[in-house]
Amino acid sequence: VLQNLVHLFYPQLCAACRQPLATGSKVVCVHCRLQLPYLDHFSLGENIITKMFWGRAPVQTAFSLLYFKKDTIVQELLHALKYRNRKDVAEAFGQEIGQKWLSLQNQPDFDLVVPVPMHRSKYKTRGYNQAELIAAAIAEVMHKPLATDLLKKPTRSESQTKKGRLDRWNSAEQQFVHSGKPHAPGILLVDDVITTGATIEACIQTLQHFNSHCRVSVATLAYAYR
Ligand SMILES: [Zn+2]
Repeated sequence: VLQNLVHLFYPQLCAACRQPLATGSKVVCVHCRLQLPYLDHFSLGENIITKMFWGRAPVQTAFSLLYFKKDTIVQELLHALKYRNRKDVAEAFGQEIGQKWLSLQNQPDFDLVVPVPMHRSKYKTRGYNQAELIAAAIAEVMHKPLATDLLKKPTRSESQTKKGRLDRWNSAEQQFVHSGKPHAPGILLVDDVITTGATIEACIQTLQHFNSHCRVSVATLAYAYR
């Protein structure tokens, strides 16, 4: 009975190929795990992700775990996480990010973990923000506090009222708003996928608008290259 209950709460299928998982396997089957396209960063300070921000936004250190490509295992994993309630994907791979980060930098240069926020309406429909789940797993492994309410996406009416005094600089900042809560200067921004970096860049602008001394690092589960 207990085993059946466990099966009810923890789906026992591979999150990528949906075949039953062998006993002892978690989240992803052995076959899929062997095919995972890991990005091998040798430095957190200078890699493909940090270079993306050169000339755009100050990013101290950055890390992405996997390459994202259409029609691959990684797309399946992200899809499972976003649309099939497979929160265990965020937990397992978030922990992996935290462990790998610590192996490259045992004294992380941030003090607070902040997920890229999601619109409240979307959050209500989905029931969770996948970036927040990844951030929570990273924060736990790295023993850092998590702040889920520091940044938020403004509702449409909130954006409208701000529009009157927007200049060009503010149009990016407007994507996110700061809660106004004071915070430590070193922040790790977490998202599920990074593509052009525009979302992270907008978050950084919001953080720095509030505190110009803010140092930002970035972690994502996947990097979608073009
Ligand atoms: Zn599989």
